[in-house]
Amino acid sequence: MSTPYAGFTEDANIVVRELTRFLEQSRSRAYPAIHQKPLGDIVDALKLEDLLSQGGLAGETLEHFLKTYLINTTRLHHPGYLAHQVTAPHPTGALGSLIDGFSNNPGTIYEMGPAATAIEIFMTNWMLKRIGWTPAPYDSAQSAAQEHGGGVLTHGGSLANLTALLAARSHMVPDFWKKGNPGNLVLLVPEQSHYSLKRSAAILGYGEDNCLALPADKEGRVDAERLPEIHDQLSAEGKKVVTLVANACGTAAGLYDPLEEIARFCRDKGIWLHVDAAHGGGALLCEELRPLTRGIHLADSVIWDAHKMLRTPAVCAAVLVRDHRTLDRAFMQDASYLIHEKDQPGYDLLHRHVECTKAALGLRFFMAFAAMGEKAMADYILDRVRLAQDAARLIAEDAALELAVMPETNIVCFRLPGDDELQLTLRKRLLERGDYYISSTMYKGKRWLRLVFMTPETTLEDVRNMLETIKALRAELP
Ligand SMILES: *Cc1c(COP(=O)(O)O)cnc(C)c1O
Repeated sequence: MSTPYAGFTEDANIVVRELTRFLEQSRSRAYPAIHQKPLGDIVDALKLEDLLSQGGLAGETLEHFLKTYLINTTRLHHPGYLAHQVTAPHPTGALGSLIDGFSNNPGTIYEMGPAATAIEIFMTNWMLKRIGWTPAPYDSAQSAAQEHGGGVLTHGGSLANLTALLAARSHMVPDFWKKGNPGNLVLLVPEQSHYSLKRSAAILGYGEDNCLALPADKEGRVDAERLPEIHDQLSAEGKKVVTLVANACGTAAGLYDPLEEIARFCRDKGIWLHVDAAHGGGALLCEELRPLTRGIHLADSVIWDAHKMLRTPAVCAAVLVRDHRTLDRAFMQDASYLIHEKDQPGYDLLHRHVECTKAALGLRFFMAFAAMGEKAMADYILDRVRLAQDAARLIAEDAALELAVMPETNIVCFRLPGDDELQLTLRKRLLERGDYYISSTMYKGKRWLRLVFMTPETTLEDVRNMLETIKALRAELP
């Protein structure tokens, strides 16, 4: 008798075989890093219409579908993938996503997923310790009584930023939840901040115009020396600073703000400090890079993405707070009953996140990490940062290229002499070739080409070839 699960093992074998081939073809450059066919052609090639109406996605049909899907898929494991901060996931982490999808235990309701919840709390505790905060005890009675950090995983850094800013708001302006915005509140964010912060400020009811840019030095880092000046000016206008955000590191050029100086100022003025370490939190793993995050433990909240530098399949990000009670109260003023209402051998974290049902995000994170171990993960991070710095030196020495700034993380921005339009044209031409996939960004008022080194296989030789290719493309233009 046929059941919906008949053939599962055979189908899973097809999937694993094709993915293994995909990985090998990507690493060996047998196919381009990026290859974009028109949308309608892809819908046709995948036979979506027929499959949807008739079913039967199994065996050879599945194999054919998957091959077509992967041919039209951007290859993050390709050494020429230099574009975005999304990781080339560790295959074992991807198995975590499969196990999660199959067992479908939501992350943070203990009875709905004891192992999923335990791993999530274990991993956020691991992150808390890296920051220098106290991890949460595994016994919920102790948890409520003690002072310690807290965390939760969310579907990405943008949602993590929203959640952290909400925890800040509930702590700083407890009446906001019921009574709304008193009208004099402002947020201070770095000039070079991720767009999710302004968006969160608008969603949280501050109004985008009340999300003000912090003074910056000439490279775009927050200028801590000028914080008292802007604070005094805002106070004189009757404004209250609810949250100040610092980057560790910024998205565009990957620079770390001076966290310690900023934190001291925030402590002094009673301002909530939120550190956006979505990309750069990985520096906490490496002795050589850790100094960039000096003072991070003085913050009130931190976000940190696992799907960027920690080889974890998207999405998986953490909201972390120094005092767990601030996150427990983020969505309501008294959440203590949530932890204690049930007599159970673990505890729920449902009250800490926007999502109701949530994937067991800790599993993919743990599995990617545990396949490698902490030492290998730290080595990978340092190695990619070193490659970015070597690439930057190559660019700086080349008279035909301009380097934006010496990198502190695995992100390099450069441009060719010419206007912003030229940079975009060159990027487009390069992507049409397909052997290299790079991104672009605005930084210091100009358009730059941007390299992000995520793939473990990319070498300096790839960078050299890519730069020669771009220069050749430039020579073909008028
Ligand atoms: C990537 C990034 C984000 C957004 O994270 P997502 O996981 O893409 O939503 C936020 N802040 C910084 C600094 C980032 O680099």
